[in-house]
Amino acid sequence: MPESAPHKDMPSSKGPQHGPLAEARQEAGAQGAGRQPASTKDQPGQEKHAPSSSGTTADQVASLKAQLAEPRSIAIVTHARPDGDAIGSSVGLMLALRQMGHEARVVVPNAYADFLAWLPGLEGVLDHQTQTEQAAQIMAEAELVFCLDFNTPARLESLAQRLLKSDATRVMIDHHRDPEGFTRFRWHDTGASSTAELVYGWLEDMGELHRINRDVATCLYIGMLTDTGSFRYSNTGPRTLRVAAALLEHGVDVEGCYARIYHTFSEDRMRFFGHCLANNMRIFPEYRTGLIHVSRAELECFRVRTGDTEGLVNYPLSIQGIVFSAFIVDRTNLVKLSLRSKGDLNVDAIAREHFSGGGHRNASGGISNTDLDSTVQRFIDLLPTVPGLTA
Ligand code: 5GP
Ligand code: MN
Repeated sequence: MPESAPHKDMPSSKGPQHGPLAEARQEAGAQGAGRQPASTKDQPGQEKHAPSSSGTTADQVASLKAQLAEPRSIAIVTHARPDGDAIGSSVGLMLALRQMGHEARVVVPNAYADFLAWLPGLEGVLDHQTQTEQAAQIMAEAELVFCLDFNTPARLESLAQRLLKSDATRVMIDHHRDPEGFTRFRWHDTGASSTAELVYGWLEDMGELHRINRDVATCLYIGMLTDTGSFRYSNTGPRTLRVAAALLEHGVDVEGCYARIYHTFSEDRMRFFGHCLANNMRIFPEYRTGLIHVSRAELECFRVRTGDTEGLVNYPLSIQGIVFSAFIVDRTNLVKLSLRSKGDLNVDAIAREHFSGGGHRNASGGISNTDLDSTVQRFIDLLPTVPGLTA
């Protein structure tokens, strides 16, 4: 993720980021697959107190606090191919929960990128793909499962069944649009920059901010840094910078964090970016759109590793006049799309409607079950139908 083409998550800043931090609710009886809450607002008849800046109801805080009053076995799960926010928020929460006296582990569906491999606390992370038995045991034994940085169990891929099978109390902490109702507790705010920012709010609500030390602060800071493109996307609000400032009070090494995330390209990766920009980028000025496609052969040829494609999708947006960008890549079993936009263009809606995906207004992703060439053609064909693209 180079400076000019940084991160994936670019949620809308239109949310009430400056009001209540998190809209948390207790979905009595809602835990279980498939239940879709009517709305993300508090349900009628549910009295809303505001014991803290988060807008969390006192009942929910008290109920979860009571469950955490004695040492618990806790699993934290996050989405497949976890990014900086997924890992930073999960590991930061894990370290804080351990200090609260709990046994906490993070279970990821599959590998995270190498540029995150220096974070503190990673020894507590289990990869469900390569450490399946251990991960299964943690999931089976967990009394609580925290679900971080995803809004639907589908984003856990093969780990989803283990989550849905377990009797553990589930707690969502997330900022993606339209969360599904698979958790009992929910700290959710699409106006938050990142899940890491919401984990800070969760600790605040639980009266546990004093658990934050340099390691916790570093993990949460990395989540915020990566999801905001180094605090420059529109999801960066006053609250984001206030939380970041509070984290810096704990001794986060700002320059070191930046260098470890953004200045760690391999030569292969840099040449791969060059190749994509020179040979695989198509620009459609009439639709203010750019597109980069990559075949499986190219991934092999450039020895592309997990996380290496991250940030490429942002490059077309640096071209004057381009407001919509897609990165389409042929992965082993499926064709994956990343969509990005500037301004009001809602790529969450496009990903949902055409590519079985979703995400945020300005950053979303999805999949296609046709081959690369036909997916690229399908994407080009839909451009005239996207409202607001033609100048
Ligand atoms: P990326 O394009 O970097 O993989 O993801 C960008 C955003 O879209 C992230 O917020 C991510 O959560 C969301 N996203 C990516 N792929 C998918 C997908 O296949 N399904 C859904 N629902 N969301 C996705
Ligand atoms: Mn995120």
